[in-house]
Amino acid sequence: MGINIALDGPSGAGKSTIAKGVAKELGYVYVDTGALYRSIGLYAVRNGAKTNEASEVVPLLESIKLELKYVDGTQRVILNGEDVSEAIRTPEIAMAASGVSAIPEVREFLLSLQRTMAEKHNIVMDGRDIGTVILPKAQVKIFITASAEERANRRLKEHLAKGQEISYEEILKEINERDYNDSHRAAAPLKKADDAVELDTSNLDIDGSINAVLEIVDTKLNALRPQRGMAPAVNRFFFTFVRWFALFLLKIVMKVRYEGLENIPKGSYVIAANHHTALDPVAIGVKMNNISGYMAKEDIFRYKIAHALKIFHAFPVSRGKSDKSAIRTALSYLDRGYNLTIFPEGTRSKDGKIGSFKSGVSFVASEANADVLPVGITKRKTKLGRTFLTVRFGKLIPYYKLKVNSLSSSELKHSRDIILNEVKGLIDE
Ligand code: C5P
Repeated sequence: MGINIALDGPSGAGKSTIAKGVAKELGYVYVDTGALYRSIGLYAVRNGAKTNEASEVVPLLESIKLELKYVDGTQRVILNGEDVSEAIRTPEIAMAASGVSAIPEVREFLLSLQRTMAEKHNIVMDGRDIGTVILPKAQVKIFITASAEERANRRLKEHLAKGQEISYEEILKEINERDYNDSHRAAAPLKKADDAVELDTSNLDIDGSINAVLEIVDTKLNALRPQRGMAPAVNRFFFTFVRWFALFLLKIVMKVRYEGLENIPKGSYVIAANHHTALDPVAIGVKMNNISGYMAKEDIFRYKIAHALKIFHAFPVSRGKSDKSAIRTALSYLDRGYNLTIFPEGTRSKDGKIGSFKSGVSFVASEANADVLPVGITKRKTKLGRTFLTVRFGKLIPYYKLKVNSLSSSELKHSRDIILNEVKGLIDE
């Protein structure tokens, strides 16, 4: 199962706009379930059926095939091969949807389509019964409300913007009617799930609402992340000393400047950095408050320093192929409360530019449900020819933005690019 965020609430509370914004911010798929009921409403109207008569609507179901497609990240609903995404956006079809949605067979008909989406992807799904019936195990459930008057105002603006003529009174009446239908029907009535957080958006604009939802999401999903401790204390004393001494030695060899030290959190996570010098791991490690494992290319273990590398928790990864044993070691470091430092370029930059990242970093972060701390390293020479590193720590990327479901290469790449872009933003051109 992917990460499921269920947004329920009455019509016009801003759910779909909020859900879209939240999905975009998180890189999740947005599933608008209202569009499914509307499509069935549309089909019923086109076939002259009374939309609140089960005996007229149910027989039509067997000739309906609904699909969801995503074009440039936007959901399209395909009804028997026809894209009806626009045709369903009228007040008439909204009422028809409200009618057909009270029919249990209709709800049953749409159940598996909605669940399949939630299994395959990280999703933000909006509707009426997502948290209660469709996805009772959703990790985050939010019940979005707003006063009927405020909702009518918002809908009015939408209609006017589309050039559709309709009065405020008409909309308010329609909203009250739909509220009543939706919350008084026998089948899956509109109702807040016991474990849903309620959010009243009457006094929030869209951005304010999106941010409020993102905050709830962050709190909920952080609480679900496996809580790892820190690396064993005995080692930590030793490493506090080593860190101090290493920084002392490092400063003899090169000039180092640190920025964003306040972004270094406690706990165990993945550190992803671009790679310039053999001393990058040291330059980063000396500032961390937890011990880290280091994924390092296997070639360097051929030299005499191999033994020292192992003391400092470096382990080899072979490049160019998937190295299961390196991945296992990486995961075991995180499991045991260590950090894990990865240079996802796989090798040091020769021209000073950042190269492409390998997807292993996303794979590990996703498998371990680990956050990623991006680090950007800029290398320069001082006038006297000394190496001058600027090491910049970025904001922790929460694991749920990097979570990959199907381990398909495109999802891994997407997750990897999030990390790459954060690191890029921390480097001076
Ligand atoms: O959200 P939207 O206005 O597009 O929904 C249209 C109608 O579909 C709602 O009034 C409601 O009756 C129905 N619906 C539902 N369950 C959902 C989504 C929508 O009953 N999950």
